[in-house]
Amino acid sequence: MVKFFTLDYSDFAKGFGLFCFIGGNVLTVIVTFCYFDSIYPIIYKNKEIYGYFMTSIGLFILFNIFYNNFKASFTDPGNPKDAYKSYDKSTASVYSGTFCKLCDYYKPPRAHHCSICKKCVLKMDHHCPWVNNCIGQNNQRFFYLFIFWMIMGTFFITIVLLPTFWNIFKRDEETLREIGEDRKLIVFSFVLCFCVFIAVGLLFGFHTFLEIKDLTTIEYKAKTRQEYGLKPSKLKETYEIVKTLLKFISPFTSTESPSLHVI
Ligand SMILES: [Zn+2]
Ligand SMILES: [Zn+2]
Repeated sequence: MVKFFTLDYSDFAKGFGLFCFIGGNVLTVIVTFCYFDSIYPIIYKNKEIYGYFMTSIGLFILFNIFYNNFKASFTDPGNPKDAYKSYDKSTASVYSGTFCKLCDYYKPPRAHHCSICKKCVLKMDHHCPWVNNCIGQNNQRFFYLFIFWMIMGTFFITIVLLPTFWNIFKRDEETLREIGEDRKLIVFSFVLCFCVFIAVGLLFGFHTFLEIKDLTTIEYKAKTRQEYGLKPSKLKETYEIVKTLLKFISPFTSTESPSLHVI
């Protein structure tokens, strides 16, 4: 509890990102386990060739999900310091208005400083908790392909599980007897994949629109805010306010702690 208060927004967001990244991959493994352990022996009974065919497609999709997820996660999104190695700091004034004081370096057009990664990212799109990395110039393609293959994967599992899920829903006695305790895992996998399919499908549509318009998420939001006169979102400020309030009411806080007015 005490340690929580010493964390800044960046630490919190990174921890949350790691939780999402590991959690997402664990759920993928659980659904894969459900396919092989609970469903495969039932739906491909007496249809061996069809089973091999469908499973090959599923494994190809699974490989692409993991590959693009890990590439998006572990590829450096792009840093101005690497891209402009020859940059001469003495000419900083030439780039007035595009200089990052936090990095003490030139900030090219479309680059933004990420408060979680604590560095500038080339053509920054957003900081994604699911890959626990910034999405920028060098890993945008991997992120886009990751969500594309996630749609394929969740669609595949939804279609494969649908007949069994429907029989469970109808309380078909033969199916219930055949799957036994695996019922819960099948229902969980079906509902999860169906929900992720809808959510990621919408996200994929949005990112396809951005690709066509050659916009990043940041640029799209800035444009929308400008058009509709909206204020920027205050996620970081909200986090600081909640943290200060918790600190204020917590019995673990020492008496010298700052008051609420620090907000
Ligand atoms: Zn910066
Ligand atoms: Zn970042």
